[in-house]
Amino acid sequence: VIEIGLPEHSRVTTCAYCGVGCSFKAEMRGEELVRMVPYKDGKANRGHSCVKGRFAYGYANHRDRILKPMIRKSISDPWQEVSWDEALAYAASEFRRIQYQHGRSAVGGITSSRCTNEETYLVQKLIRSVFGNNNVDTCARVCHSPTGYGLKTTYGTSAGTQDFDSVEHTDVVLLIGANPTDGHPVFASRLKKRLRAGAKLIVVDPRRIDLVRSPHVEAAHHLALRPGTNVAVLTAMAHVIVTEGLVDEAFVRERCDWDAFQDWAAFVSEPRHSPESVSQVTGVAPETLRSAARLFATGGNGSIYYGLGVTEHSQGSTTVMAIANLAMATGNIGRPGVGVNPLRGQNNVQGSCDMGSFPHELPGYRHVSDDATRAVFERLWGTAIDDEPGLRIPNMLDAAVDGSFKGLYVQGEDILQSDPDTKHVAAGLAAMECVVVHDLFLNETANYAHVFLPGSTFLEKDGTFTNAERRINRVRKVMTPKNGLADWQVTQALANAMGAGWSYADPSEIMDEIAATTPSFAGVSYALLDRAGSVQWPCNETAPLGTPVMHIDGFVRGKGRFILTEYVATDEKTGPRFPLLLTTGRILSQYNVGAQTRRTANVVWHEEDRLEIHPHDAEQRGIKDGAWVRLSSRSGETTLRALITDRVAPGVVYTTFHHPATQANVITTDYSDWATNCPEYKVTAVQVSPSNGP
Ligand code: SF4
Repeated sequence: VIEIGLPEHSRVTTCAYCGVGCSFKAEMRGEELVRMVPYKDGKANRGHSCVKGRFAYGYANHRDRILKPMIRKSISDPWQEVSWDEALAYAASEFRRIQYQHGRSAVGGITSSRCTNEETYLVQKLIRSVFGNNNVDTCARVCHSPTGYGLKTTYGTSAGTQDFDSVEHTDVVLLIGANPTDGHPVFASRLKKRLRAGAKLIVVDPRRIDLVRSPHVEAAHHLALRPGTNVAVLTAMAHVIVTEGLVDEAFVRERCDWDAFQDWAAFVSEPRHSPESVSQVTGVAPETLRSAARLFATGGNGSIYYGLGVTEHSQGSTTVMAIANLAMATGNIGRPGVGVNPLRGQNNVQGSCDMGSFPHELPGYRHVSDDATRAVFERLWGTAIDDEPGLRIPNMLDAAVDGSFKGLYVQGEDILQSDPDTKHVAAGLAAMECVVVHDLFLNETANYAHVFLPGSTFLEKDGTFTNAERRINRVRKVMTPKNGLADWQVTQALANAMGAGWSYADPSEIMDEIAATTPSFAGVSYALLDRAGSVQWPCNETAPLGTPVMHIDGFVRGKGRFILTEYVATDEKTGPRFPLLLTTGRILSQYNVGAQTRRTANVVWHEEDRLEIHPHDAEQRGIKDGAWVRLSSRSGETTLRALITDRVAPGVVYTTFHHPATQANVITTDYSDWATNCPEYKVTAVQVSPSNGP
């Protein structure tokens, strides 16, 4: 990091990495960013930050950025730099040609959870009102779509129930499938502080994450379950709570659907759900599971935090509903210190979902079949909206391979690297006639693109991100877009090149449109955000400054709804050829596929992904620490170095996925969540063997 002098001016903006949404003061000297200083009045971070956010500006200035639009007729041709007008006219004419030749539904788009609310709103508006279909999806498809389904079904809204401050009032934390010290470091610091003050921690994770045992923090219980058995563990915890009379009956009678509760209580009480009955499947000792359930039900304010270790499974949505059941049964909803809290991975994954990025939902999680909601947007946009859900990302790729889907606009998302079954993604992209990639770098997906539209970084645009606690934070422009246009301007220009008449002069006007059409954003404006610092949706007449804790007097859907959560084993089975189970995660200094963090000072902390393997499994295979190994599955194989550690149990291996060379998704399967198609990244049957290197 080179500091080039004292700052002359600064603006407060929001980190563009994880769902904590830390506020920073971007200190500038002229047009040069001198440093990013954690903002002490930021409500999500209160002056703290992690190494990712501090050095994020590195990628804004990186030499790999593409700053000029490019086109090519075929993916085997070289790229040609062209003007913005030429690139947009070409993309527009190709999309229109495809629709003329193959039908209105032969094109679609993908919004980005790295972009602002205003930008994702515009992309879904482009698809719905200009493309004329609902073929819009988002990268939340591959991370938290089960959260949307599970919490909407049980509570009535697709969001976490609490603010981060709530952790300061909790007595027992149930942490499932999340590793906050690496994935959400600033929240992890607040959690650790609470644990040091006496709160108890239950960790449910196949791997011994740092919070299980670290200086001054020791989990009361670590349920090191076999990957893929979350539902069996949670249902067994419910079994203990119900059969031992630990249900908060007063809460359930008053706040929940009593008939549904009784059905659920009878279901979880069945002997087949007892800790003893499921221990063979889960690998968790019955007494550990019983003790954890008792602690959660009787230890005071209980809160549940979870991450992708819950959602990225074939039973991801079922697991979210099992979590929601547990919170309702123990009365842990609707006040500070309790609740259900998905730790969102990307900076704006909450916002991209809020903004109508799913093919079945308009902004505010309202189904496209709802006549009244469609009428609101039809009046404003002056066009009819399809009342049938469109295609999800995997369906778009399937349709492309089958020949009925031909054109795709991808904003800020590298689906070739981040989506499962790389070969199938490549086949789908290769079969399309026009792929438009709108991004900062020539990513892997761009290998299949015909038009490349340079993207802008969070430092180059105005807008808002919504973090994991539903907090709408301002993003403020601190430098002129190096590529000439902010992302919202590019989407507007593409819409207009296709015949729309959009005339937004500033992203604040887009937010005004969101506020006017989306009840949970009622009254939100840049003026309000400048005054209040930030607000947590829902905002409305009775709560103009937002709602830190939801479901206080009643659930959004009325009565909370218990759902029966039957454990169904994944179809991904171990066997003689693939006897180990692979699961994946992140490290502190890197972010997702590393497209941004590998282009910052953070690169010094992480040079490669490694495969964690238990000493017993390594010895059996003659694998030495640091040696190259071949990791193979039914889908494919890759090569990486081994890290021998007892953090993972025998039979389980683990890797991160930050480097393209690792190609983790060449290994993963195409199994997915039954309700949302969220890929089952967290369970893959694999074999590991010595290798001479890549
Ligand atoms: Fe905060 Fe997350 Fe950014 Fe780190 S990556 S500074 S925890 S928002």
